[in-house]
Amino acid sequence: MTTPVLAPAADAPGEAAAGTGPLAEAQAQLAAAVRTLGYETGLHALLARPRREMTVSIPLRRDDGSVEVLTGHRVQHNFSRGPAKGGLRFSPAVDLDEVRALAMWMTWKCALLDVPYGGAKGGITIDPRRYSRSELERVTRRYTSEILPIIGPERDIPAPDIGTDEQTMAWMMDTYSVSVGYTVPGVVTGKPVSVGGSLGRSAATSRGVVHIALAALAHRGIAPAGATAAVQGFGKVGAGAALFLAEAGVEVVAASDQYGAVHRAGGLDVPALQQHVAATGSVVGFGGADPLPAERLLGLDVDLLVPAAVEGVLHAGNAAEVAASVVVEGANGPTTAAADEILAANGVLVVPDILANAGGVIVSYFEWVQSNQAYWWSAAEVDARLEARMLAAWGKVLEVAGERGLSLREAATVTAVQRVADAHLTRGLYP
Ligand code: GLU
Repeated sequence: MTTPVLAPAADAPGEAAAGTGPLAEAQAQLAAAVRTLGYETGLHALLARPRREMTVSIPLRRDDGSVEVLTGHRVQHNFSRGPAKGGLRFSPAVDLDEVRALAMWMTWKCALLDVPYGGAKGGITIDPRRYSRSELERVTRRYTSEILPIIGPERDIPAPDIGTDEQTMAWMMDTYSVSVGYTVPGVVTGKPVSVGGSLGRSAATSRGVVHIALAALAHRGIAPAGATAAVQGFGKVGAGAALFLAEAGVEVVAASDQYGAVHRAGGLDVPALQQHVAATGSVVGFGGADPLPAERLLGLDVDLLVPAAVEGVLHAGNAAEVAASVVVEGANGPTTAAADEILAANGVLVVPDILANAGGVIVSYFEWVQSNQAYWWSAAEVDARLEARMLAAWGKVLEVAGERGLSLREAATVTAVQRVADAHLTRGLYP
């Protein structure tokens, strides 16, 4: 397909990426894919920029009667393949550039997994642990009503991300529904099953990570039984991945969270660790393991490393310490470009986020289909379709990497960017 030169950009495609941080990483990945694909500057500019961004003030009445004003964003990166899709993050680290990067990665993730969406992301700069449940409900509802004009089942469909959960989605769905005057389950995914959520959604990201991890280990000739793993992050993604890895016979020897890490040669009792975390809020102090300085987890001599926390944790300063054979990115954006180079030079196989953690948005798609049709699938059906899609995408990425001589991240990004660009070019530029 030809790639016509589009309207010239007012600024260079990668200009917003100057410096470091997730947006610079995302822009560098796009720029590399554009070079491989040979696209014109105009098309690059179009793919580099969000289609729409909304920043809102969120006045919150605290439980003590005082008023505080928070900031929230919703960035819709692309709609060429369908409605925008992506999570909502509550974290003190949220800023507009982070949300822009996460929105762009959602576009590529949805395209790579061939779910009919563009990409979006939302974020509120807030530490949710410092707020009561009723305060978080008010924040969520006010944010939802502020971004209401740009969301909807055919426009942009939020889902959980760091710091948000099923309850957050139920509040969003209710606020949207009350505003339009009827119940609209398809406006969000990751809802509780009682209000139209899908069976299998809460575990979907972790299940997908493990499908890909086992495929990647097999690709390296490593059988799950007796293989060892370390998991960074023990939230929804990391804890579930640890459990499913252990169920597959992998020895999960270390796990960490923002408070510290624990280690046990021979493998952690993951269900017992999950109970400890449910009771205390952290992996720290778990009786069935030894304490480990958290920064040492990434350098453990294991077969598999799963970074399942936040962006930028594998960087130029620590990538050389990684001793794992395979890194499977449960988090979005955990590896910087500099770290990618070091890991590749050291023969570490890195399975990129837009493939490895796509299980969540795949089952979000299944949930949206079910919500829109008001017809519910069995858990077995959800899990089987999830596994089939993950493994199909894994096969595709391996194939493209082999054909073009690319890393798995480059192959995944090229495949996704090409699909988005093809959709855009087929639709044409209007007016
Ligand atoms: N927040 C998840 C992600 O980063 C899920 C997004 C979704 O289901 O829309 O992929």
